[in-house]
Amino acid sequence: MERFQVVGATVVDGSGRDPAALAVTVEDGRFADVDASSAERLDATGLTMTPGLIDAHVHLGLSSPIEPQFSFRISAAEIAADIFATAGTALDAGFTTVRDTGGIDGGVVTAIAKGKVRGPRVLSCGPVQCQTGGHGYYGAEWEPTELWSSHHVPGLAALSMMAGNADELRRNVREAFRRGATFLKLCVTGGVVSHHDRLTDTQFTVEEIAVAVQEASARGTYVTVHAHNSEGIRNAVEAGALCVEHGTDLDEPTAALMAERGVALVPTFAVVEQLLHDTAGTGLGEETRGRVLGVRERMATALAVAKVAGVRIGLGSDLIGPAQARRGEELRLRAGLESPMDALVAATKTNAEILGLTDVGVIAPGRQADFVLWNGNPLEDPALFADPANAVLVVQAGRVVKDLR
Ligand SMILES: [Zn+2]
Repeated sequence: MERFQVVGATVVDGSGRDPAALAVTVEDGRFADVDASSAERLDATGLTMTPGLIDAHVHLGLSSPIEPQFSFRISAAEIAADIFATAGTALDAGFTTVRDTGGIDGGVVTAIAKGKVRGPRVLSCGPVQCQTGGHGYYGAEWEPTELWSSHHVPGLAALSMMAGNADELRRNVREAFRRGATFLKLCVTGGVVSHHDRLTDTQFTVEEIAVAVQEASARGTYVTVHAHNSEGIRNAVEAGALCVEHGTDLDEPTAALMAERGVALVPTFAVVEQLLHDTAGTGLGEETRGRVLGVRERMATALAVAKVAGVRIGLGSDLIGPAQARRGEELRLRAGLESPMDALVAATKTNAEILGLTDVGVIAPGRQADFVLWNGNPLEDPALFADPANAVLVVQAGRVVKDLR
């Protein structure tokens, strides 16, 4: 029996409870409520212990410069190398679980789960589901539609699948499930990183979205949607989607509807900063920066609107391109808009609920022993979350995956 006890740390358990000086026992990969005074001791004096962080919106499959990746200028070998590097940096930043909202194929999840690649626990939707030419399509206008799927690298990367009608969407989501998806993501409005649409556009009809919801429900899972405007969000909620990504222009009536139907929101502030300050670093053209102007302020308003309405609010970075090492920026940004404790709870307990995981997210007996020891107290200085150098020790399911001591 593997057993050890973390002593000396200030424990912030992820439930929202006040920090406490506690000894925490880990037994066989889980937190345990047993007398462990004789167990091996892990001295964490002066450090702060939090649950392993969860990022509910990642794109491991977009770890290379984006436009070169989708114009056949980067080899499958390099795409794989970039994906695996990003998976490792997520752990280094203290993230022990991520939800991939589009871009990897099932093989990446398997490679990490088998321990062949360093990385967090990954839940994946496989390719994003988009309507023909909608958000999620990065090909040229003149590229024949049927060539788009040739950008997929089976088992490794698959950004999106395009559907021209409900039947095609049903075929595509079944294909995504066949290739390892455990939930679905549909793009129901235009996007920032798009060439062909506007943020005010809606995409897919209520009837079409309902087809994906039906297929997801049949497998005991759910649909989340990329959505910036309230019309698109309403379409998705009416069709039965259970989560909304971004939510930039969420208005009060729509937030009330989300709360009433138990639909969660995952705002994504880090990617907005990334596109404002380093568009070129993502491998996207300068015009993308123009598309993101104003989004930061509107998304902050939407967060406040959602909060007042009582919507369950998770946390996602949505970082894209090669620079994904500072995933905790999302907590720093959210701490500034809410409080450091709110940001932490969103990134742990609430995200676990949104992902449908009952055994991570909180430091409590029986849960998987995913935790981070921080150098200092990130509740006093949330900037600590943003710099991976402060995640001194990262433990996933009782196993040390990063140790800077
Ligand atoms: Zn995204």
